[in-house]
Amino acid sequence: MTEETIERLVGAARLLVATDFDGVLAPIVSDPDDAAPLDGSMAALGALAAAPDTTVAIVSGRELAQLDHLVPEPERFVLVGSHGAEIGETLVSDEDRALLDETIAGLDELSQRIPGLRVEPKVLSVAVHVRQVQGPDRDRALAEIDRIRERWPAKVVTGKEVVELSVADATKGDAVIELKARTAATVAVYIGDDVTDEDAFAVLGPADVGVKVGQGETLASVRLDEPADVTRFLEALRTGRAG
Ligand SMILES: [Mg+2]
Repeated sequence: MTEETIERLVGAARLLVATDFDGVLAPIVSDPDDAAPLDGSMAALGALAAAPDTTVAIVSGRELAQLDHLVPEPERFVLVGSHGAEIGETLVSDEDRALLDETIAGLDELSQRIPGLRVEPKVLSVAVHVRQVQGPDRDRALAEIDRIRERWPAKVVTGKEVVELSVADATKGDAVIELKARTAATVAVYIGDDVTDEDAFAVLGPADVGVKVGQGETLASVRLDEPADVTRFLEALRTGRAG
């Protein structure tokens, strides 16, 4: 991180600070439920959010409700969940909502007939868990789920014991475009550590700054090693911006 980069961010007429949560503010832990952000990063972000002409957004793959629970004093920030699909209000069309509701109803009905089948409705998707389904019931369940997913028009995420049918196709890049437009930011900085953050780096303009945390190929122009370095970076921004 060069002095010049910090100075450019500090001197921006309207600054957008957008950051991922896990692996950036909160160190990665084995159980995602135990994730907690570093105090120093949250203090610096809070001060930045209160500084003039500065907006702070936290953009996560987690569901918005979960993010709201994990971020201390979340009302200070713009929170974006589900990889950009939940930005303020949830971005889902009436058509998609109807499709999801109908699918959830169908799966609920299926779960009445198949012991152990668990249906988990989410804001933008429904997950079907087959871990507890035994013997011939399991084949029946998988066949039924296959039939549903064949007709599913949007995103399907398949895990070992779970199939998730989603209507969300937004990316973190969509979120950054939307945030930049909403805040009329003259300069944006985006901080992320994962593959999905590359969508955000990809939409940054020449005046903006992408910060990649950790190893791996990236479109970001700046690299930091770990969340503790993010704290130092945010403190430098805070010092300049709030002063
Ligand atoms: Mg992350």
